[in-house]
Amino acid sequence: IADALYARAAAAPDRPFLLFGDRTFTYGTMVALVECAVERLAGHGVTAGQTVAMLVGNRPGFLVAWFALSELGAIAVPLNTALVGDGLHYLLEQSEASLLIVEEEFRPNLPASTPQLLAMHEDFETAGFETADGGGRSPRPRLALPGGTANAILYTSGTTGLPKGAVIPNACYELAGAHMTEALGLTEADRILVFLPLFHANPQMYAVMSCLHAGATLALLPRFSASRLLDDARRFGATGFTYVGTVLSILAKRLTEADRGHALRWAVGGGAPPGVWREIEDRLGIAVRELYGMTETGGWVTMNTAATSRFGSVGAPRPDMEVRVVDGGDTPLPPGKKGEIVVRPGRPGLMFDGYWRKPEATVAATRNLWLHTGDRGSFDEDGFLHFDGRMKELIRRGGEMIAPAEIELALLNHPAIQDCAVVGVPDAIMGEEIKAVVVPRPGFAARDVESFLQGRIPAFMIPRFVETRPEIPKTATQKVQRHLLSDRLPTTVD
Ligand code: ATP
Ligand code: MG
Repeated sequence: IADALYARAAAAPDRPFLLFGDRTFTYGTMVALVECAVERLAGHGVTAGQTVAMLVGNRPGFLVAWFALSELGAIAVPLNTALVGDGLHYLLEQSEASLLIVEEEFRPNLPASTPQLLAMHEDFETAGFETADGGGRSPRPRLALPGGTANAILYTSGTTGLPKGAVIPNACYELAGAHMTEALGLTEADRILVFLPLFHANPQMYAVMSCLHAGATLALLPRFSASRLLDDARRFGATGFTYVGTVLSILAKRLTEADRGHALRWAVGGGAPPGVWREIEDRLGIAVRELYGMTETGGWVTMNTAATSRFGSVGAPRPDMEVRVVDGGDTPLPPGKKGEIVVRPGRPGLMFDGYWRKPEATVAATRNLWLHTGDRGSFDEDGFLHFDGRMKELIRRGGEMIAPAEIELALLNHPAIQDCAVVGVPDAIMGEEIKAVVVPRPGFAARDVESFLQGRIPAFMIPRFVETRPEIPKTATQKVQRHLLSDRLPTTVD
């Protein structure tokens, strides 16, 4: 994955690659740091094919370590930094990591038995400076890695249960970057703001890889802060950012009027509700490029690009991927009909290479070379895909299949509802009943929910139960963990 980095560093070493706080890391500096890290990691016995876990937040050292592992042909396992104890233990064991690169801050979260540790200190980010000009050392011969070589194991965010490690080959990253550069029309002048966690596929594929491909600049933030986002964007002269739906919704709530004092032009990601999409475009004056993709597909499968876009859809398929909507018997469905979204790569290396050490799960997900996404959607007459939700999360009430998102959108319009999630709960007569879990604002009354929703959504979609909670459980990428909500006994409205 570091080919573009090395090539750009050779051609224009002084171009900025990364902005972090008040520091600028040029392409040349970055290569020097990676070279130092390669030496250090090799000194710790890291060799090709080994898995090395990382528990590192959004900081330059994350990228240095990732590129260095790639240079050694090792497989990076970037872990969710919110993990603690048992959850962490499970992933360290499951990934068979021989070494863990850990940032001091997360050391207290480690389980009792952990593999060999390597501290992620500033030295990952500074040790190379004195050798930025090569320091007289003879250059290290770089490995020529075939595109199919595993680069990383990315554990899916665990929205629906135990995380599975998607093995992502080098080619997958590189192609994601190349395609994204084209779809967004990125140039060297772009400055891509990254606030989503770097251990997640979204910023890796859509920000880091496209930045390298375009020779652009990354502006890295430790975390998402809605209140500071626009200030940070101005300070760095950011031209775009990548999102997940929740952060865009939070941002939209903060923007009460048009704000144009910035250089932002685009935002790319998945999960923006249509209302939020429009609001962000109007208020910020940028283009929202909504896409559909998952960790397993190694980036986006369909996307609204500058050339083809349809409001409310997740866009049209990438030219090198085949996308279908099928029924339960895997028969393709015509436009307008909802079914499971399945994807087939047009050539090898485009997608994940199975789940790490989970052959049954891999076979189950990739029947007849088609990746079965577990997501529901439909194509329209013009070939744009419309995302309807996860099949597992659909509520089956009586004869109806109900997508929770539609009810959640309606609920969020209620002035005394700060956040919410809708789930199905077992019911002897209907099969499932609808429960709304609500984070209330002062003045909220559960009994008002029904009358509020009347006329906004069909009667059969109105929740039978309302439960209040101080917060909605979410993954590190801000996706609702619905499976944690349906196991509780619901509170009846009246
Ligand atoms: P897990 O598989 O462990 O439950 P996850 O599926 O949330 O975790 P990711 O690979 O990060 O992990 O997310 C991919 C999923 O995100 C897709 O399968 C789909 O359900 C959802 N998604 C993707 N694009 C969109 C979109 N445009 N709008 C809404 N949801 C989307
Ligand atoms: Mg998934």
